[in-house]
Amino acid sequence: MERPYTGRFAPSPSGYMHLGNLLAMLLAWLDSRANGGRIIFRMEDLDPARSREEYAQALAEDLRWLGLDWDEGWPDPAYRQSRREEYYRQAFHDLARQGLVYPCWCTRAQRLAAASAPHPGQAQRDEGCRCARLTAAERRALADQGRRPAWKALPPDRTVTIIDGHYGPFSQALGREGGFILRRADGVFAYQLAVSVDDMLMGVTRVVRGRDLLSSAPRQAWLIQALGGTPPSYCHGPLITESGGKLSKRLGSLSTQVLRRTCSPQALTGILAWMAGLLPAPEPVTARELLPLFSWDKVPLDDIPLPELPGADI
Ligand code: GLU
Repeated sequence: MERPYTGRFAPSPSGYMHLGNLLAMLLAWLDSRANGGRIIFRMEDLDPARSREEYAQALAEDLRWLGLDWDEGWPDPAYRQSRREEYYRQAFHDLARQGLVYPCWCTRAQRLAAASAPHPGQAQRDEGCRCARLTAAERRALADQGRRPAWKALPPDRTVTIIDGHYGPFSQALGREGGFILRRADGVFAYQLAVSVDDMLMGVTRVVRGRDLLSSAPRQAWLIQALGGTPPSYCHGPLITESGGKLSKRLGSLSTQVLRRTCSPQALTGILAWMAGLLPAPEPVTARELLPLFSWDKVPLDDIPLPELPGADI
């Protein structure tokens, strides 16, 4: 049976949204609505150290302010990753039963870097970790030291190809890339596991997000298949760059909190639509008015340099 077209917003409340996050949300909304689809709004507040309630509230307000509506999710707590640990635990045990999980005793710094969503250009390959190849006796000796390991997925020795809706076929030799974190040593489930389980269980059929996550798509498609689900189709959009680098919440790039003081929702939507190639000039427009103009063919493949913005003197 064909599954209903279902897209999603999946922001992390680790800061105020910036223009790049808004562009990703606008594209996700247009993609789903232009296809008569539904939208789920899930709050990815998995990491307690980085997530703040204030940011979660602000994310939802920003989307409402921009006129990007959703059908299911926030503020329902069932769509907060922090409340979904039981699903991640079950999936983790399912993978472990299939022999697809192994303990990793590498340092905390390596683990933390691996457990968050990757950034463009950041090496994903599991360099230097030989934990998957330890003998049973070596594992026992490490366990006896009383340290808690992180847990990694053991990907198969094959190439997984996804057909990205915007960038085309994208392949990854998963075995060569090596293991990736499913659960941190402090017990927190990692991004790759949570996002895959949620997309699967929430019936997401279409993932639209920034191209920094393109390199995660083959892993996520593989995890969903290993868990018995059907992977969504993936469609990544260009990033907005500032001085050659990706905008970042952590670097305090132009946040919606500032933009909302200087722009109307229509003005900001017009700027985003113009940057995305959907309008010839940054004229005020509503998201709904963009629907007949929306086509992925118009959206650039290259990243988009941040233009001068009216009154946004940051
Ligand atoms: N929560 C992730 C982020 O805000 C995005 C996850 C996804 O779209 O797969 O970077």
